[in-house]
Amino acid sequence: MKRKIIVIGGVAAGPSAATKAKRVSPDAEVVLYEQGEHISYGVCEIPFFISGEIQDSEKLVVYTSERLKKEKDVTAHILHRVESILPSKREISIRNIKDGKTFTDWYDKLIIATGSSSKHLGIHGEKCRNVFYIKSLSNAYALKKYIDEEKPRNAVIIGAGFIGLEMADALSKRELEISIVHKSEHPLSILEVQNRKIISEELKTNAINFIPNSTVEWFGIGSKQNVVAVGLKNQTLETDMVIVAIGVSPNSHLAQQSGIQVGNQGGILVSDRMNALGVNNIFAAGDCCEFKNIVTKKSAYVSLATTASKTGRIAGENAAGGNVQFKGFVRAMGMQLFDLEIAHVGLSSKEAQEAHFQIEITDVKAKSKIGMFPNSTDIYFTLISDKTNGKLLGANVLGKNGAVQRANVFALAIRHGLTVQDIAELDLIYAPKFSPLWDGIIQTGIQARK
Ligand SMILES: Cc1cc2nc3c(=O)[nH]c(=O)nc-3n(C[C@H](O)[C@H](O)[C@H](O)COP(=O)(O)OP(=O)(O)OC[C@H]3O[C@@H](n4cnc5c(N)ncnc54)[C@H](O)[C@@H]3O)c2cc1C
Repeated sequence: MKRKIIVIGGVAAGPSAATKAKRVSPDAEVVLYEQGEHISYGVCEIPFFISGEIQDSEKLVVYTSERLKKEKDVTAHILHRVESILPSKREISIRNIKDGKTFTDWYDKLIIATGSSSKHLGIHGEKCRNVFYIKSLSNAYALKKYIDEEKPRNAVIIGAGFIGLEMADALSKRELEISIVHKSEHPLSILEVQNRKIISEELKTNAINFIPNSTVEWFGIGSKQNVVAVGLKNQTLETDMVIVAIGVSPNSHLAQQSGIQVGNQGGILVSDRMNALGVNNIFAAGDCCEFKNIVTKKSAYVSLATTASKTGRIAGENAAGGNVQFKGFVRAMGMQLFDLEIAHVGLSSKEAQEAHFQIEITDVKAKSKIGMFPNSTDIYFTLISDKTNGKLLGANVLGKNGAVQRANVFALAIRHGLTVQDIAELDLIYAPKFSPLWDGIIQTGIQARK
């Protein structure tokens, strides 16, 4: 009988695991179960599909089930939810969502890639048809249809994290008036406060009504069973639609029920080889897991497509008999908000202090290219480094031009344990159209070294 590898979950980690497993072990039968309607698509591109910058929704899909079978010989079953795992029998129980019937399947190796779910507010009205969570392609289609057909004039976005901000940018490109309700003084709590102020300014410049230090207490529901008002402590916002973007939590319930260990943040605990802790023959990858943070060396939760795909490939390779390791994540994230590029890599100062590092913070403002060019703009750098040995722990880079790609240099530096001295000595490209003679990256290293 053929060896059988089963994958649960079909967005980023799942398909990466399945295709890698098949490549490493072409004789194995690889089967993927996904409870939703789609597999293998770009979640990160959803805001640009909503804004209209990506027009063709088919471009978001990397593999349909048919193509995955034809090109990779992986069998994917959509609308099939795995309801339980029995590790002692190497068996799973699955419900076909279309007809409601359940059946069992067996595995030699199982890969759990069940991802994450949007956090909910727990407020009456959040299931109304004009309240949207941005997590899946089905969510994106529903939102796009609502905007195209019902032409809302305004929207309230709850949460000013990366997704809330990307949606603010997307919806204002659709000419909606936007209010953002956020729990703290400035957006993106992972960034340093001086940089978060720059983001607040960018929202103001672009006529976004940013409401700080507020939480939503109630929804007002209208005659069409739509949310028509969002109630804050001292204010009511009338609205045509709501986006809830208050974060995600790992889908680890299924794993936990079968005896797999989960960490402090609710993610499945895995070894460096992606073996789920507490059971044999089961691997896990992606948003449903906690992984080793490369700086703190401790297990932490991160929800990023890069980490999901990478860990998916590792789980796939090892499930197929390989022996590869994941060294840990840096957490490299970036986005564009109107004209502003925003990037964060590594630890924030708060996280570094919580991890008992003695930190040094260095802020530098530099130019994106030589000042003679009229389109040379400011770039704001912040480095968080370890005072005791100079090692880089984290960085923020913000600016109108070239900020995100510059932050990648710091991601690399963190990955390889470089110090601010190393950064000061980097040999980087100088070309007047791309950087000043001393790029801000090097200037920041020099400043931090002092
Ligand atoms: C709007 C948006 C923008 C983003 N932008 C970026 C970005 O720019 N860069 C970046 O790195 N990351 C970004 N991310 C994060 C990234 O999309 C996620 O980290 C990534 O999708 C995680 O992939 P995953 O496969 O682990 O989990 P998920 O994408 O959550 O997929 C898991 C799948 O498993 C299925 N599933 C769960 N339980 C079961 C079950 N019991 N049976 C069958 N199927 C099941 C779910 O239906 C789901 O389809 C963004 C996320 C969002 C929402």
